[in-house]
Amino acid sequence: MADSVMDLGVSRKVSDLRDRVAEMIRDEVMPVDEEFLAEVNVGDRWSLTPRQQEILAKLKGEAKKRGLWNFWLTDSDSGYGLTTVEYAYLAEEMGKAHLGAETFNCSAPDTGNMEVFERYGTAEMKERWLKPLLEGEIRSAYAMTEPDVASSDATNINMSCVRDGDEYVLNGEKHWISGAGDPRCKVYITMVKTGTDDDPKHKQHSMIVVPADAPGIEILRPMQVFSMDDAPHGHMHMRFTDVRVPADSILLGEGRGFEIAQGRLGPGRIHHCMRAIGQAELALELMCKRSVQREAFGKPLAQLGANFDIIADARMEIEQARLLCLKAAWMMDQGDARAAAPWISQIKVAAPLVALKVTDDAMQMHGGVGISQDTPLARQWMHLRTLRFADGPDAVHRRQVARVELKKYTQMKMG
Ligand SMILES: Cc1cc2nc3c(=O)[nH]c(=O)nc-3n(C[C@H](O)[C@H](O)[C@H](O)COP(=O)(O)OP(=O)(O)OC[C@H]3O[C@@H](n4cnc5c(N)ncnc54)[C@H](O)[C@@H]3O)c2cc1C
Repeated sequence: MADSVMDLGVSRKVSDLRDRVAEMIRDEVMPVDEEFLAEVNVGDRWSLTPRQQEILAKLKGEAKKRGLWNFWLTDSDSGYGLTTVEYAYLAEEMGKAHLGAETFNCSAPDTGNMEVFERYGTAEMKERWLKPLLEGEIRSAYAMTEPDVASSDATNINMSCVRDGDEYVLNGEKHWISGAGDPRCKVYITMVKTGTDDDPKHKQHSMIVVPADAPGIEILRPMQVFSMDDAPHGHMHMRFTDVRVPADSILLGEGRGFEIAQGRLGPGRIHHCMRAIGQAELALELMCKRSVQREAFGKPLAQLGANFDIIADARMEIEQARLLCLKAAWMMDQGDARAAAPWISQIKVAAPLVALKVTDDAMQMHGGVGISQDTPLARQWMHLRTLRFADGPDAVHRRQVARVELKKYTQMKMG
């Protein structure tokens, strides 16, 4: 690894794609973002209004027409064959608009789920789920977290999944299941416990494919983030009561859930982080524009107090976070998931923190309007704050980083 050239730059291949994605985000997506969000308050919050459907159809149709679709298919024959580093540059642009990722069919959690179907799905799953997901016709969710256990330690996951003849029967509750509120969400990749406490810790769990309309699934309520329900996407609290799925719905086989989770979460975390960096860039841009356009005490805001320092720090911190994210992406591209893991953990902590700080400073520079509906900053801050939990809370990632660091100095097993 030490001998390989670490090229983190914009390749020729992705340079043109990045320009085209940025152009489409600026000219087509940003102008309809607010209208799309305002429509949530029209009629049933948990369905898409005709106007929302029209906006999405137009954006996705345009993206397909321009050949800007499914970039995340990194090492597939059917995709662009982009490396994770190359993809990261596109994710940064997509992060700048609410509908940015969905426009190009690169949304979480669908990209991770599609990867799982592509790698581990049966021919039938590929036909039934992967095909419409690749076309952007349906959405999906990833159901791991449970209300009754500390889910940051995934070995605690406890949803029961018992074989009964040709079927598995699932019982238990999940919460914070992102996207499960969307009527287009048709399938859940669900983490369940198939083994016993006597089995090795990382062989007790499995991933199983559950159709959203399977009898016995109840949506209990949307979880709220700072009093907002994020409709129609939603982060749902759900109960499974005697939910039956065919035995071949289990991915790879019983006890292999962690194997799949390891592969699933790595790229998704890089995507989240690069989108966060895109949001930090947007916040810095808005902060700078505001600070030169508005005057107080006879000077542009930029020239008052510590505002030069705030702007300079934002630029430096964004650059550091981007480079760390690109390095983590590059580590992933080397094909050794174990070696890449601590780098992914580093950026999973660092990127949301930087983006939150810059967004917070940008809100402050805007005065009251900064936390209002007149800029995307407040919504962006709220979303970024949730990233410090989703896909593993900061503390869990810090633990991973510290363990690797300390290992260099001791033979002791780090708990
Ligand atoms: C908006 C949002 C969307 C989400 N979407 C999904 C989704 O789509 N699917 C899904 O399955 N889950 C989802 N989650 C759940 C998320 O992944 C979990 O909240 C997260 O894994 C933490 O689990 P927990 O909430 O049970 O916290 P707990 O496990 O109870 O942890 C609570 C706290 O304990 C501390 N802690 C834990 N471990 C350590 C440690 N090793 N060292 C020090 N402190 C520690 C940390 O401060 C941590 O925040 C989402 C969460 C949010 C907020």
